[in-house]
Amino acid sequence: MSFSSLLLSDTLLSVLTQKGYIEPTPIQLAAIPAILAGQDLMASAQTGTGKTAAFTLPLLQKLTEQTEACQPKVLRVLVLVPTRELALQVNKSIAEYGANTAVKSTVIYGGVSIDAQAQKLADGVDIVVATPGRLLDHLRRGSLSLSAIDTLVFDEADRMLDMGFMDEINAILKQLPPQRQTLLFSATFSKVIFELSKRLLQQPIRIEANQANSTADNVEQIVYAVDSDRKPELISHLINKGQWQQVLIFSRKKQTVDTITQKLIAAGVEAKALHGDLSQGAREHVLDDFKMGKIKALVATDVAARGLDIIALDYVINYELPFIAEDYIHRIGRTGRAGNKGKAITLYSEDDALLLEELESLLDKRLPQQWLAGFEPDLTKVEPVARKNSKSAQRQRAKKRALAGSKRGR
Ligand code: AMP
Repeated sequence: MSFSSLLLSDTLLSVLTQKGYIEPTPIQLAAIPAILAGQDLMASAQTGTGKTAAFTLPLLQKLTEQTEACQPKVLRVLVLVPTRELALQVNKSIAEYGANTAVKSTVIYGGVSIDAQAQKLADGVDIVVATPGRLLDHLRRGSLSLSAIDTLVFDEADRMLDMGFMDEINAILKQLPPQRQTLLFSATFSKVIFELSKRLLQQPIRIEANQANSTADNVEQIVYAVDSDRKPELISHLINKGQWQQVLIFSRKKQTVDTITQKLIAAGVEAKALHGDLSQGAREHVLDDFKMGKIKALVATDVAARGLDIIALDYVINYELPFIAEDYIHRIGRTGRAGNKGKAITLYSEDDALLLEELESLLDKRLPQQWLAGFEPDLTKVEPVARKNSKSAQRQRAKKRALAGSKRGR
């Protein structure tokens, strides 16, 4: 099936040809006609499935048809995203796919000057890509109105809720016209997302670009059992021996991210850290360097790495397992993008035993441990159990989850 059979305009098709896209990805095949037909959508899709183009292309097409008749510009499309990185990326994709159209898009997120953003809004735009907090700031200042929005997109809805944006989302929803098309994209589908979608969507088309809560088939998942103190050494061994071009390494804590980065640099690997303590400018700089291939290893926390779009990333390493099992799916979704094969390697030590059990039950799949020659764990050593993963911490987390579930049910 080709893009032209999806009834996209020649203007858009020519950009896709330039970008070297040969055929639509499964989510594009399913979503583009539904969006063009004005239907609501509930799509289960990770980053890497081509989801951005799946909503951007039909929206650009619809806007082009409207804007030809409509001057000056009116804000019609709102894309809500959880993080500034994703906001920048989505806005960049819109600019690229819409390069030959008159559609104008802008991006608003916190941590930078609000006045410059307000000026862009005042100049007139068709699309705003925004993080919820900063969007509310603009609404309070009156620098934009949502009264003419006809399409609302939620990108990475699960992340937005995980990051605690429910109140902001509710405040934004109050200012949106009730008659609109709503498109909801989420990598994972929990009960709380279903609750939100019931409130937001009218007779939505359901698309599963990947099975809900599953990992992409083209990602090989490996778990190496290794002593905690040998993990950095194992990573530099994998990079050097395998002659890896680039790798994204995840850790739960900023401090650990810094330590891993320093150890990799000391072992001769060009590495940089990406976490919330860096300024917005510094984060963008690190990301650009990684995208341009100036850095071999990017070491990041889950929050900082959310929504990163790095083409053809072959390897992802989990320095330890994330506390939230769904984060594992997000982490490894950074590899095996748009049909490429990828490898996700988890460095496992005894204190992650319970997290591995939780993950296996979420994935409904066993992740057998392996030993890497030369890095076999020292079985005579007793690993200290991290306080956060002690039995009592596990019980507390289970209780928190149960409480959150009952709150959602109210
Ligand atoms: P996304 O899931 O939106 O983050 O997209 C993942 C990557 O796939 C991006 O780098 C896109 O440029 C790329 N991509 C999207 N659609 C296609 C397609 N139909 N063919 C090839 N690459 C694509």
